[in-house]
Amino acid sequence: PLAALLGASLGLLFYRQTTRQMSLEQSLRRSVARDCEDFRIHYQPIIELETDRCVGVEALIRWQHPSMGMIRPDRFIPIAERNGLIVPLTRWLIRTAIDELAPQLYGDPKFHVGINLAASHFRTFDLVDDLRQLVAYTSLRPSQITLESTEREILSDYDQTPLRVMEMLSAQGFSIAIDDFGTGHNGLAFLQRFPAQILKVDRTFVDTIGTDAVKRPVLDAIVDLGQRLTMGIIAEGVETPEQAAYLRAMGVPYAQGFFFARPMPVADLNAYLEDLEQS
Ligand code: C2E
Ligand code: CA
Ligand code: CA
Ligand code: CA
Repeated sequence: PLAALLGASLGLLFYRQTTRQMSLEQSLRRSVARDCEDFRIHYQPIIELETDRCVGVEALIRWQHPSMGMIRPDRFIPIAERNGLIVPLTRWLIRTAIDELAPQLYGDPKFHVGINLAASHFRTFDLVDDLRQLVAYTSLRPSQITLESTEREILSDYDQTPLRVMEMLSAQGFSIAIDDFGTGHNGLAFLQRFPAQILKVDRTFVDTIGTDAVKRPVLDAIVDLGQRLTMGIIAEGVETPEQAAYLRAMGVPYAQGFFFARPMPVADLNAYLEDLEQS
């Protein structure tokens, strides 16, 4: 009887989990169908360490759920990936980001926006067509769009499509960044196959500055590797002035993190950029 009771309550628990999952999935589907009406984009500045200037932003998606409040991307991106919603959602994001950032992007041909891509974008050539059209109909330069992807998304032993998609995007002049660098398990050999110009050093390595003298050499080695490969380097998750100073002294060109600015809506970004210009 105890086992039956346990089984029943586990069943109930599972049922509750599944229905909660389903309703999240259903409202995600509904919102995407309504032209992504409940989604917002927050922009986090990327800073050139030598000059303290903002050279671009990363676009980070937010879901303003009508009853549950703001839901973080880590919770809904995996769901959107599983049921094919990530592709229309990212299409909306790219369109909206370019709209919202028009003054910066068209005013400064060096200003760039970073877009996060999920694995599903690399299984077809649709993204290549989308982006090609986008730059054909605007005066944007492909280099103003940085496509961020982790190693996991691209490398597959049995399918060469992801790598081909990435190579085509790169050949068209879009800039490609390896996101969360150092957290994957592919070793270093993959770097030679990955057509990326930018390396984003994961926050866990930046965290070691000032806290973990034993692990910090790993950060130093990653930066050294990026420099030897003449890649652009962006340090992620910079939270303290010590971390910024250390990275600057090492010659890391770009940084991003709460120390400089948090991700924010476009109105706040505009005010932030204006302040920065005046200081
Ligand atoms: P990510 O691409 O590594 O983005 C950086 C994350 O670090 C963001 O979290 C940002 O808010 C956070 N962050 C920035 N500076 C700091 C800092 O100084 N300290 C700390 N502790 N965190 C910092 P967010 O916005 O919650 O996004 C989480 C992840 O969700 C992203 O990681 C990315 O993998 C994914 N994501 C976000 N937007 C999109 C999107 O439009 N499409 C896809 N496919 N994934 C997205
Ligand atoms: Ca990213
Ligand atoms: Ca990252
Ligand atoms: Ca990430």
